Amino acid sequence: MIIVIDGPAGSGKSSTAKSIANRLSLHYLDSGALYRAVTCLWINAGKPEKEQFFNMLTEVHLQVEYINDLFHVKANGEDLTNQIRSQEISSHVSEIASLPEVRGYVNALMKKIIANGIYIADGRDLGTAVFPDAFLKFYMDASLEERAMRRFRELENSGQNVSFKDVKQNLNDRDLKDKSRVSDPLKKAPDAILIDTTGKTFEEQISEITQIIKENIKL
Ligand code: C5P
Repeated sequence: MIIVIDGPAGSGKSSTAKSIANRLSLHYLDSGALYRAVTCLWINAGKPEKEQFFNMLTEVHLQVEYINDLFHVKANGEDLTNQIRSQEISSHVSEIASLPEVRGYVNALMKKIIANGIYIADGRDLGTAVFPDAFLKFYMDASLEERAMRRFRELENSGQNVSFKDVKQNLNDRDLKDKSRVSDPLKKAPDAILIDTTGKTFEEQISEITQIIKENIKL
């Protein structure tokens, strides 16, 4: 069974999904981390031609594990977790994620992962394309200014030297690419519950979503 949270970059999906997973003892799946890991492989391979990269990808075994608030991704045994949040990956990920072959690879992997257990997952197209029959669907959003400020603080706290302007620009660029791509663009599923977090505290948004989950599912 799966509960999904979709929404634009920096809307708080990952931190919300993680917090709810911890509180309700659910498994957590970060679909963006999988696209980031695939992008990392493409960059580490020297940005090969797409056809060559797709062939390479068929030989890659991606494994995921959620430990102590950190979603780990390993490719053929190598832990990529510390590399996948860099600005370089953020600036290429939407381009790589727009490729149907990459989406097919990641979607097949996600379906396999969630086959056993109750999962909460966050992404862009989970409620619309990957898991249209998800038990519950949320769509989180917030103003660009607020999302950029949250992401900027997160990156600063993790020791990355970034400017607010660049972070805001990257979020805006990714949203445009994610919303306008042909394969499974970012959009709210008609049956998703909209959670606008502009001006809300983290605790407020968690309580709102947890309440809805508890009303709908006997865990
Ligand atoms: O969630 P995060 O911001 O880490 O995702 C990185 C990128 O991966 C997004 O900007 C988007 O291009 C892509 N993505 C996607 N579909 C998903 C999750 C992420 O295309 N389900």
